[in-house]
Amino acid sequence: MATNEGINKKLKNISKDHHLNKLSGAELALAKGNWVKLICGASNQDIPSITDLCAVYAAAGVHCIDVSADVAVVKAAREGICWADKRLGKNPWLMISISDGKDIHFRKAIFDPQKCPQNCPRPCERICPVDAIQKEGIDPSRCYGCGRCLPICPIGIIHEEDTRLALKDLAPMISQIRPDAVEIHTTLGRNDAFKNTLNAITKANVFLKRVGVSCGLEGYEVSPEDLAKELWQRHSCLQKHGFKPLWQLDGRPMSGDIGIGTARVAVSLWEKIRPIAPPGPLQLAGGTNSHTITHLRTDHGPEGIAFGGMARSLIQPFLQEAQAKKTNLRDWPEGWDAAVKQAKQLINPWLTRTYL
Ligand code: SF4
Ligand code: SF4
Repeated sequence: MATNEGINKKLKNISKDHHLNKLSGAELALAKGNWVKLICGASNQDIPSITDLCAVYAAAGVHCIDVSADVAVVKAAREGICWADKRLGKNPWLMISISDGKDIHFRKAIFDPQKCPQNCPRPCERICPVDAIQKEGIDPSRCYGCGRCLPICPIGIIHEEDTRLALKDLAPMISQIRPDAVEIHTTLGRNDAFKNTLNAITKANVFLKRVGVSCGLEGYEVSPEDLAKELWQRHSCLQKHGFKPLWQLDGRPMSGDIGIGTARVAVSLWEKIRPIAPPGPLQLAGGTNSHTITHLRTDHGPEGIAFGGMARSLIQPFLQEAQAKKTNLRDWPEGWDAAVKQAKQLINPWLTRTYL
């Protein structure tokens, strides 16, 4: 004889299947727990590379590509997505990232090279992981704002420059770009700034499939419970405007250093937050890499993952070789095939994961 528990489980599965049958594409991936996002890099303004990078990851099968809120960057990303759509029928969401306050993801370093003493041993050049610092100063198209160079100058002439969009420019920018989704980087204690940012977004009058909220604990002497409280505040703001949330847990922001440790940080934050977080899909970010999946239990997990530094560095050698050949990656078949293969190796374990 069937038990109540058995019947309830069956009913729950029927209702879940019915719900899933009504969804498609990115929303289905969020519901099934195999959503993958590419973080193209908020400061990445190497335009030709953005088109190739987005085309590669769209072809590999990501559900969303997250870029900085910059018209030229969005145009380049769209070109890559359209290219993959025409040839392969792959059409991920385009998301733009903004911030409701000062944020390391939205800054660049700057200094006046005229002020450098002739005999300076140039420690700034050595510490920069992306060779953005040259005799002429900092190349803004390379600098991604990691901040390593800021404290190292012996005469203290390197400063950070805020690259965020002003609040008044948000609505015109979103009306012009018309993204599928927007992600707001926020942090503890900034609920009022978050509200103002949401209000500015609504003035654009653009339908958004999701509004992402990116927040983490890095650098804060607070508990996951405090973070959850803040997420609940953001949840009520989103509800007021009728936006569907997508929570991004930033395990370790700006984790250009790729290692097993960073993957653990992202997973550990998710484990602490999941039971106390507001409703809506949660995606891991900040320090995610190919090891991340190995730290999760097989029957349980977040709804998705966002890959940034690792996804970009895997494709970087192909982009550089294409540049050396004076072509783009899309027009170099061997390089293209090899790059897509690398991208698939990183994301396929997530695309094929079914556990919720
Ligand atoms: S060290 Fe970091 S912040 Fe400084 S120039 Fe290089 S990328 Fe930019
Ligand atoms: S460390 Fe400071 S002074 Fe020396 S080259 Fe770099 S910016 Fe100039």
